[in-house]
Amino acid sequence: MSCTKSIAAEDQNVIEKNYHLQRVGSSARDFLTDENFTSLRIEVQYMPGYEPDAKALLNLKYFLYDHLHKPGGISIVTKEIPSSADSSLTMQEVIGIEKANRTAFTKNKELTVYILYTNGYYIEGQMLGYAYLNTSAVLFGRNLDDNSNKFKKLNRSDLETRVLQHEVCHLLGLVNVGSALQSAHKDDDHGKHCINKQCLMYFLTDTEESPSFLLRKTNPKLDAACLEDLKANGGK
Ligand SMILES: [Zn+2]
Ligand SMILES: [Zn+2]
Repeated sequence: MSCTKSIAAEDQNVIEKNYHLQRVGSSARDFLTDENFTSLRIEVQYMPGYEPDAKALLNLKYFLYDHLHKPGGISIVTKEIPSSADSSLTMQEVIGIEKANRTAFTKNKELTVYILYTNGYYIEGQMLGYAYLNTSAVLFGRNLDDNSNKFKKLNRSDLETRVLQHEVCHLLGLVNVGSALQSAHKDDDHGKHCINKQCLMYFLTDTEESPSFLLRKTNPKLDAACLEDLKANGGK
């Protein structure tokens, strides 16, 4: 059985309906290769006051062009959606917001991603972002506020850039959730993260971070071990 088999045309309606309801990392190869999908559309929706940083979105796009085979292109569309009345959301509520608002679904040769910026916190605090389904991630706006553009904090562009790239890398199967380990670098105490503190996939990247970690000047990149995992699964 080949895992590179193309998807038959008659299956496309099924894909559109259910494709986005799989676990994180299960579409890793579909992101990394052009076997099933040749282009990528990223739908970003945000609540009032939390329009995504334009530079961070551009950085995300460049990052994805660096690692994915998408000859048909990568596009990003942004749209404001109504505020949430709750100042903190559960993951079930996040999923409900996506269900009520998402308009871009994977079909034909185009893979789609949904990224939500909320106007509040995650219910348990701490979390800046979270990848929760195979093509879905959320950034918690109030927590971004608390952790950027302040003394001893990153500027907003840099914080959003690293959180966006980190969450999307979970969708690409890192670490060991769809792109298999090529070397022993998984942080077993903090599932699906990398043990290398300098790596984009270090676990503190998507939680509230210590100032010393945040103040590193350059944006973290994927280390050699994570890059190798992506390449082994068909990525650039
Ligand atoms: Zn993470
Ligand atoms: Zn790594």
